[in-house]
Amino acid sequence: MVLAQLGGTITRAIQQMSNATIIDEKVLNECLNEINRALLNADVQFQLVRNMQNNIKRIVNIEDLAAGHNKRRIIQQAIFNELCNMLDPGKPAFTPKKGKTSIIMFVGLQGSGKTTTCTKYAYYHQKKGWKPALVCADTFRAGAFDQLKQNATKAKIPFYGSYTESDPVKIAVEGVETFKKENCDLIIVDTSGRHKQEAALFEEMRQVSEATKPDLIVFVMDSSIGQAAFDQAQAFKQSVPVGAVIVTKMDGHAKGGGALSAVAATKSPVIFIGTGEHMDEFEVFDVKPFVSRLLGMGDWSGFMDKIHEVVPKDQQPELLQKLSEGNFTLRIMYEQFQNILKMGPIGQVFSMLPGFSSELMPKGQEKESQAKIKRYMTMMDSMTNEGKSCKLDSSNPKIMNDSRIMRIARGSGRHVREVMEMLEEYKRLAKIWSKMKGLKIPTRGDMNMR
Ligand code: GDP
Repeated sequence: MVLAQLGGTITRAIQQMSNATIIDEKVLNECLNEINRALLNADVQFQLVRNMQNNIKRIVNIEDLAAGHNKRRIIQQAIFNELCNMLDPGKPAFTPKKGKTSIIMFVGLQGSGKTTTCTKYAYYHQKKGWKPALVCADTFRAGAFDQLKQNATKAKIPFYGSYTESDPVKIAVEGVETFKKENCDLIIVDTSGRHKQEAALFEEMRQVSEATKPDLIVFVMDSSIGQAAFDQAQAFKQSVPVGAVIVTKMDGHAKGGGALSAVAATKSPVIFIGTGEHMDEFEVFDVKPFVSRLLGMGDWSGFMDKIHEVVPKDQQPELLQKLSEGNFTLRIMYEQFQNILKMGPIGQVFSMLPGFSSELMPKGQEKESQAKIKRYMTMMDSMTNEGKSCKLDSSNPKIMNDSRIMRIARGSGRHVREVMEMLEEYKRLAKIWSKMKGLKIPTRGDMNMR
């Protein structure tokens, strides 16, 4: 992702500025100009960049800088806040509730990754115990229904579509009605994409939207469309009430700045990003960790602050040591589960890690999540000590063989499927944890220099 380059340029610009003996308006302007160039290069829309520059100038008090306060920190914090504001439209997207029918309609240009994303979205929720279903209301592109059917079959998700009916509105309504009767709680409607913005596409989209009354319209955008992102997103928003954005192909060479523009144009948050062609290459999008990473502050800047703030001093070194080693054993997972359940200081810290709490304990489902964690812990209780200390990754793939899994299931009175689910969760968390490997552990002083 080229966004990483943007982060590097911004960090260097701030560094250069803070090296100057005297920070005056000229030095600050040079720094901000450098940052502007980097943002424009990353395809962030010109107007947004200009607004950001003005806001920073308003916030950063040049006298404060001259008085020897921590310049780097003040500027970096202002940039951090501005980028977060750009990506956070201030109101959350509609969140569907498990067990209650929600209709989600996907819109976007052809090739944006819309059909793939519909399936990823369905699959993501299905893994969490939802009952999703897919409706193909794309009658424009030959092969659209086949593609959706193929994806849905692979993921074992019910689908609806037609080879003969040419009216997308009719198919959408029939599909939604069918799945409502089947008590599906997430009915996903895939609509036609065209090569470019055209009146017929928008009219069709409007009609499907009016007929199916979706709870949420998701605008799917390819991250590589560059400066065109703002206008494209705005055109969709003007036709239908877009409520969320999903940015695809963030794994490629895309500059990614278009995501910021799409949020500004639709005033809707990015809820997920697509990071590959596979069904599970799909991530929940969190603004703050994303911007931290962008600015080279590490994903874990807020996380580090929290550690220093809430973890008792004598427990900090051990925790930080474990984090920097990046080795996530089942034993560590067990300990973190204990912490999360206690909601003690360390539990609070872990609930800040991107992916740890949002996925493990989604808001509004705390009770279910606690029960799940306890279930996982019972299974881990029945493991041998040897098993729990092992790092379950490709360097040690044999440790959880079939017979061991069966033993755990038997020992804990759980189904093999549940043990597999727990191990999947372990792998997911281990991936997050491993990102902290080699983390330079800042001391209090370093933290202030950030
Ligand atoms: P649609 O025309 O908007 O429905 O787009 P498709 O779902 O058919 O996707 C177009 C192409 O983009 C396909 O080859 C997908 O596999 C690919 N694609 C979709 N999402 C991603 C992603 O996040 N990363 C990558 N690398 N490819 C993607």
